[in-house]
Amino acid sequence: MSEVQDSVIVEYEKRDNIAIITMNRPRYNNVQNSKMTYAMDAAFAKAVDDDEVKVIILAGAGKHFSAGHDIGTPGRDVDQTFERKHLWYDHTNKPGGEFLYAREQEVYLGMCRRWRDIPKPTIAMVQGACVAGGLMLAWVCDLIVASDDAFFQDPVVKMGIPGVEYFAHCYEMPPRIAKEFLFLGERMPAERAYQVGMINRMVPREQLFDTTMDVAQRIAQMPRLGLQLTKQVINTAEDNMGKRNTMDMVFGYHHFAHVHNELVSGDKLAGFDGKAMAAANKTQAAKQEES
Ligand code: ZN
Repeated sequence: MSEVQDSVIVEYEKRDNIAIITMNRPRYNNVQNSKMTYAMDAAFAKAVDDDEVKVIILAGAGKHFSAGHDIGTPGRDVDQTFERKHLWYDHTNKPGGEFLYAREQEVYLGMCRRWRDIPKPTIAMVQGACVAGGLMLAWVCDLIVASDDAFFQDPVVKMGIPGVEYFAHCYEMPPRIAKEFLFLGERMPAERAYQVGMINRMVPREQLFDTTMDVAQRIAQMPRLGLQLTKQVINTAEDNMGKRNTMDMVFGYHHFAHVHNELVSGDKLAGFDGKAMAAANKTQAAKQEES
């Protein structure tokens, strides 16, 4: 079955003052390829440009919010270039470490920062898996509303990589918990994420949409500029606490790890594709449940 049968890779819906942007690759648990990334960016731009839209919800169709970056579906498009949104040069014909460095500056770090600073409040509506690259998409949003079956996980230390490209771990949870989160690479259930302050609301799955809409509608009562200024000052406060510099620092180590992997194993991801990572995560989750 080809993915073309999915109607569109990102859906856009407007309800009153709320834009709902839905990642629509449920067959692949909404793993993020470049095509989806640029479609999301276009959807965000549409919501920003629409004066009626006060709040933006980011959702994932199907069982899971997002299982991460696309590292193995037939739609994987790491070798393709799209109309870039930053002044990064094309990565596709670049050698060695430059290939992934240039791509991830644009497609991962650059896009996430761009979305994090969208001048309207954003809410991630998270169910099921929110794993690796999926974390980045939830974390760029201002608020996170999750169902009680949601779980959060960054398993990329298995690849020898110190966390995903948008390294907000130390700002999303206390540093000691961030170490546990990364060292173990295990699933953090929604309840624990709520306890550490990573998410704002945790509700039963059947209430997820209504609760998210309710929060969005209440935010939408506030004046646009007031919301934008508030968002901007808190984002800047986080940056003053080192968030932006930390990410730039980690990005260097992240790419040292990619290049090291390639030198040692011939593969930037240490031989893990989507299937291998999913299998490793499943085995680990089963063990986690036993204990
Ligand atoms: Zn990477």
